[in-house]
Amino acid sequence: MSTAPPVQPVHPVILVVNAGSSSIKISIYVVPDAAHDNVDVQPTLAAHGQIEGIGVKPHLIARMADGRVVAEEHFPVEQVADHNAAFRLIRLTLSVGLRDSPPVAIGHRVVHGGVRYTDAVRIDDEVIATLEELVPLAPLHQPHNLTAIRAIRGAAPELLQVACFDTAFHAGHDPLAQLMALPYEYYERGVRRYGFHGLSYAYIARQLRQVAPEIARGRVIVAHLGNGASLCAMHDGKSVESTMGLTALDGMPMGTRCGSIDPGAVLYLAAQGMSAEEIQSMLYGKSGLLGISGISSDMRALLASDAPRAKLAVDFYAYRAAQEIGKLAVTLGGLDGLVFTAGVGANSPEVRARICEHLVDIFGVKLDVAANNENRQRVSRDTSRIPVLVVPTDEEGMIALSTARLLREGVER
Ligand code: ADP
Repeated sequence: MSTAPPVQPVHPVILVVNAGSSSIKISIYVVPDAAHDNVDVQPTLAAHGQIEGIGVKPHLIARMADGRVVAEEHFPVEQVADHNAAFRLIRLTLSVGLRDSPPVAIGHRVVHGGVRYTDAVRIDDEVIATLEELVPLAPLHQPHNLTAIRAIRGAAPELLQVACFDTAFHAGHDPLAQLMALPYEYYERGVRRYGFHGLSYAYIARQLRQVAPEIARGRVIVAHLGNGASLCAMHDGKSVESTMGLTALDGMPMGTRCGSIDPGAVLYLAAQGMSAEEIQSMLYGKSGLLGISGISSDMRALLASDAPRAKLAVDFYAYRAAQEIGKLAVTLGGLDGLVFTAGVGANSPEVRARICEHLVDIFGVKLDVAANNENRQRVSRDTSRIPVLVVPTDEEGMIALSTARLLREGVER
């Protein structure tokens, strides 16, 4: 392994940990002096490390903020068999650079905050116990979030750890947006539509206020199209509806997740003899773009393929995304702006164009082909009834911001 990234030692350092199902990403942020007085000053990214393919084909890479690779290595699977091992390894890689300035706080991406957490929280034993109870609602993500939290708490019990939730941005939804038409007692027990990707949407709402304040104040639909995909309806920068529900399976189809399906299909599969685990693994891991195409969950691979089912998968994806936009526009009572973000949304002119084709007659959307091909910030023509924007997201930056805020509140207390 080559040298690890040095960071500016004079300023406090925050680590942001994003532990996914087969990867862990750690980012180092430096808290500038100005952030001590102003909640809105964004910590600066210094370096980023990640391990992908945990337990399968582990690959570590660490980069400085400017993209320079400072460490890269493939590991035998026995050496990085689980998340604990992966976490130790990245921490070790980045620790050389952190020697003079150990982190003063760690911010975690945590998928589910349930009904209880409507904002970022300082982690203690009670928070951990509550997050544990929420595991069944995010079985593929929450356990890994907790593994990272526990590993750090074991090594440095006094260190401030902050949980930032994918659900929190949606906490103010009207009961109509949270209901499922099941017996009401289940709603009271927390079986309700929460919505996810909230860190991304919170970041986009913040960015929109800066880059397009006139749109930010209005009725906006944001399409977060990454490996996971959802859409959020916002009014004046606040979430009013999400396409995701109780779990991150709902809404539009994704890389490997099915999105909304007839619940009767699940009952049918169970009656045919599939176990709950088999159904879960199919709905989360073998459906969506991968399931339809039989080729890949990666949008780039499907766009590059001539196979009829690759085309069918992309057509269905665009059709369903546009349908969800129609649904959210009803919730908003109209539409003042459409924003694309995340891996596919921010980088794929073709997918944006395919989705917008469905929106021409109903919303008068007119894309500017050149602007769209260049992923410019505004990709619609002046004559488009609805402005269409591309705004890259930064979920980790949002976590760093919330963590810096709680760090400051702790100091002021
Ligand atoms: P995650 O949800 O894991 O954060 P990302 O937001 O990085 O994922 O999105 C990953 C998806 O973005 C993949 O399907 C990838 O193919 C797609 N993607 C990235 N760049 C492009 C591109 N230029 N064109 C089409 N799809 C892209």
